[in-house]
Amino acid sequence: MAGGRVAVDGAQIVWVGAADQPGAPDGEIRDLGRGVLLPGLVNAHCHLELSHLYGHIDRSHGFVAWVRALVDARRVGDSGRVRSGAQRALRDLFRGGTAALGDVSNELQHLGVLAAAGIRTVIFYELIAWEPTKTAEVLEAALHRRSTLEHSLRGSGASVRLAAHAPHSVSAEFLRALVAAGGPAAIHLAESAAESRFLLCGDGDWRVFLAERGLGQVAFHPPGCSPVAYADSLGVLRPGLVAAHCVEIDAADARTLAERGVHVALCPRSNRALGNRMPPLPLMLEAGVRLCLGTDSLASVDSLDVLQDAALLHREFPEVDAHTLLRMATRGGAEALGFDELGTLEPGRRAALAFAPSDVELEDPLEFLLSGDARTQRVAL
Ligand SMILES: [Zn+2]
Repeated sequence: MAGGRVAVDGAQIVWVGAADQPGAPDGEIRDLGRGVLLPGLVNAHCHLELSHLYGHIDRSHGFVAWVRALVDARRVGDSGRVRSGAQRALRDLFRGGTAALGDVSNELQHLGVLAAAGIRTVIFYELIAWEPTKTAEVLEAALHRRSTLEHSLRGSGASVRLAAHAPHSVSAEFLRALVAAGGPAAIHLAESAAESRFLLCGDGDWRVFLAERGLGQVAFHPPGCSPVAYADSLGVLRPGLVAAHCVEIDAADARTLAERGVHVALCPRSNRALGNRMPPLPLMLEAGVRLCLGTDSLASVDSLDVLQDAALLHREFPEVDAHTLLRMATRGGAEALGFDELGTLEPGRRAALAFAPSDVELEDPLEFLLSGDARTQRVAL
């Protein structure tokens, strides 16, 4: 709506309408100038703990080579750099009007900076366990750590949910055990051709990678199906799961994701940077998949701004309705993370507002938001 107004009382939106519409509550009026007001953005899949690696991981040799470089770089990282990198990234997200995050973490070293950030966060405590014999040990330690963290995070607005890395880095035994324990709440799924190949035939680049890491002797019987079908056969696909990527999927997989109530966090800029496919967005929309956006980490993309991912999808799929893309960057993410109070400009929702200023009068605000040129900022109340 052009010339719209949003009335805020405390932390809540209480009225939304046009400037000349009767019924607006009295109070101080602030004119934000030319631009677009929108709900705070929701980044449903990122890895703040990798922010210090920005610019340090070669992305030019494809997905498996990138994973190899990332694993090696993390081995020599120190916790001080991890924390300060996460803190810088959080500051940029907060200033840029991101209201909520799904933050995937293996190490949980940066949680102290989250508590002070002013952004609602779900921490996906991500577990990697390829050796089936380690299932009980890894899960028990994770459950214990989670209960300790929940105690220390009380009152911070952050919560911790158990997550699995991916179907080609976590054994079937571990995934079944995680399902029995109520998880996983997040997973990387159908991200690369290497993953699909490995699950189909048990060979390819991922087999080489596992052998390099000393895991070549671990018995693995490839299920001979797609990553989505495999995850479904283990009971992983359930309502509330946030599955990142899902680019290597067909129409049957899309229907499965929709029927199981899975939220899919698309991260197209990361896919492009690592030489993976673009997500088959029209296919997913047709199947009714619940969609949101993530950025993945600064080890694969240049910013944690989900509006840039929406802009890339807009360029790739100009036939997709612009409202649908903007919803994915806002309300879709809020639904995926369980933050019902966020994601739209409606009375009753939390007043987490973002504003994208423009130098010129805008004829098509949505087109501007999805142009790649719009930069949002938080509206301080
Ligand atoms: Zn990720």
